[in-house]
Amino acid sequence: MLKKLKEQVCDANVALSRSGLVILTWGNVSGIARDKSIVAIKPSGISYDELTPDKIVFVDLNGNIVEGKYKPSSDAPTHLELYKNFKTIGGICHTHSTYATAWAQAGIPIPCFGTTHADSFYGSIPVTDKLPKNMIQKDYELNTGKLIVETFRKIDYEHFPGVLVADHGPFVWGKSPQQAVENAIILEEIAKIALLTKQLNPSKKSISKALRDKHFFRKHGSDAYYGQ
Ligand code: 13P
Repeated sequence: MLKKLKEQVCDANVALSRSGLVILTWGNVSGIARDKSIVAIKPSGISYDELTPDKIVFVDLNGNIVEGKYKPSSDAPTHLELYKNFKTIGGICHTHSTYATAWAQAGIPIPCFGTTHADSFYGSIPVTDKLPKNMIQKDYELNTGKLIVETFRKIDYEHFPGVLVADHGPFVWGKSPQQAVENAIILEEIAKIALLTKQLNPSKKSISKALRDKHFFRKHGSDAYYGQ
């Protein structure tokens, strides 16, 4: 069933591991078949070295296992909540990558300090609020998804392909599982450059709207002209 999606999600998880963004069994990648409302996701706690397409788990949008012999990622309810609300995304990647997680733990949105940032994120990368105790104790992963969706109530998820979950780490998305991993790599690099920028110049301000618009919209949207 959906052999290609299983392979894509397996490949994206392996690519995530090879990128150096995750260690041990931290992180997970999923992908969705929108026409069938089926999500393919990494099994929980399985090493990236052991991962093969047959170990990828299929769940429906209510979290029921449709196919697979393993338990899905513990973060599956977060992924499902994002797929339900962000209708055009096709893949999600969660990591605990060092620099992005440092900003998430500091609770500081990453300012748009330069064009590397503006090429992929149209402004400061948001941080969620902290989850209250009752939302941690019950349905934690589902509530993490709800918190992300709430954070994006007034932000266009297509202009910001990721978020920093306060005290936790990044959740990143894209049109495919591969693109979600690529955006997680970009986010980590942006987080690293922003920290160095802040250290070199603590009073550095965000770039102008003109420069931000130029860089974001030459790559995204109907007037994009970057690439072949
Ligand atoms: P899983 O192995 O259950 O996907 O958990 C990894 C992780 O990073 C939890 O936040």
